[in-house]
Amino acid sequence: RSKKLGGNSYSFYEPALQEIIDQRLQIEREIISSIKKDEFSAYFQPQLDRKGNIIGAEALIRWNHPEKGLISPFHFIPVAEQSGLIHQLQHIVLRDACLLFRSLGNRYINDNQFTLAINISACQFRTELNQSLLGTLEEYGLSPQKIKLEITESMLMIDRDHTIDQIKQLKKEGFWVSIDDFGTGYSSLSYLHSFPVDELKIDRSFIDNMHDGEGGTAIVDTIIDLAENLGFTVMAEGVETQKQMDVLNQRNIRGMQGFFLSHPLPADNFTKWVNSHTTKVQ
Ligand code: C2E
Ligand code: MG
Ligand code: MG
Ligand code: MG
Repeated sequence: RSKKLGGNSYSFYEPALQEIIDQRLQIEREIISSIKKDEFSAYFQPQLDRKGNIIGAEALIRWNHPEKGLISPFHFIPVAEQSGLIHQLQHIVLRDACLLFRSLGNRYINDNQFTLAINISACQFRTELNQSLLGTLEEYGLSPQKIKLEITESMLMIDRDHTIDQIKQLKKEGFWVSIDDFGTGYSSLSYLHSFPVDELKIDRSFIDNMHDGEGGTAIVDTIIDLAENLGFTVMAEGVETQKQMDVLNQRNIRGMQGFFLSHPLPADNFTKWVNSHTTKVQ
C-alpha cells in the first residue's frame, strides 16, 4: 500500500503506525455503537468459601459482538481505557451487578458476607471514581457494602499516595477493596501494611504451580501467612482442579473461584446456579 514519492509521500514506517491508529479508532467506534445497542454485559463467576457456601461473585465484562461473538476483555479494555470509554463500561458492569442483586433478592442483599466484585482500571483513579460509583449505586438503591473493588497490585505503586487516599475514601463509603493478581505486581512489601485494603487475591499463576510437587504450594502458603499477619483475608483465583481445591481447603483462605467451581455466567444463569447450589447444600 506504499504510495509513490511525491506531494503526498510518507516514510516507510508511517503506514504501520497509521494502521494501528486506524484499528484503535475502529474498535473505539465499535465500542461506542455497541454500548448504544446494549451489547456489553457483565458475566458473574461464583466465589465459594471452604464449606462450599456462596460468598459472592466477580463481575467480568463481556462484549457480545453481533459478528465476532463473545470478545474477551483483553481485546478491548486497553482501548476503552485510552479513549475514556472505560467509564461507560464500568457503569454497565456496576448496573448489571445492581440488577443481579435485585434478582437474587433480599436474602443476598442482607447477607453481609455476600459481595459482588468489580474490576477497576488504573486510569479511573485519576477521576472522580468515588462519585461515579456512588451515583450508579444510588440509582439502583444499593449500598457500597455490597460491592468489592478489585484493583491490581501494580496500580497501588503508581502515584502511591494519591491512590492510597482514594482507597481510603472508598473504604469510608463502605466499599470492600481487594488486591487482584497478587504476587505479580511487585508491590514493595514494605508498603503492603499501609494499603487500606481488605483482601489479597492470589494470582492464578501461583494456583497453577501447586501441581509441581511439594514446593508448589510454597508461594501460596507464603502469601496466606503474609495476609494473616497483616490482617487481610485471602481469595484464590483460577482454581481448575479438584486437587487444587482440596489443597486450598486445608488452608486459611476465605474463598476461591475458578473454572472447577464455575465459569463466569450470564446473570440469569448465575441466578439459576445460585438457586440450585443452595438447595444442594441444604
Ligand atoms: P481478572 O480480574 O484477574 O479476572 C480473572 C480472569 O480469569 C477472567 O478473565 C476469568 O474469566 C478468568 N478465569 C476465571 N477462572 C479461571 C480459571 O479457572 N482458569 C483460567 N485460566 N482463567 C480463569 P476475563 O473475564 O477474560 O478477564 C480478563 C481481565 O480483564 C480481568 O482479569 C480484568 O483484569 C479485566 N477485566 C474484566 N472485566 C473488567 C471490567 O469490567 N473492568 C476492567 N477495568 N477490567 C476488567
Ligand atoms: Mg479481577
Ligand atoms: Mg485476577
Ligand atoms: Mg488475573
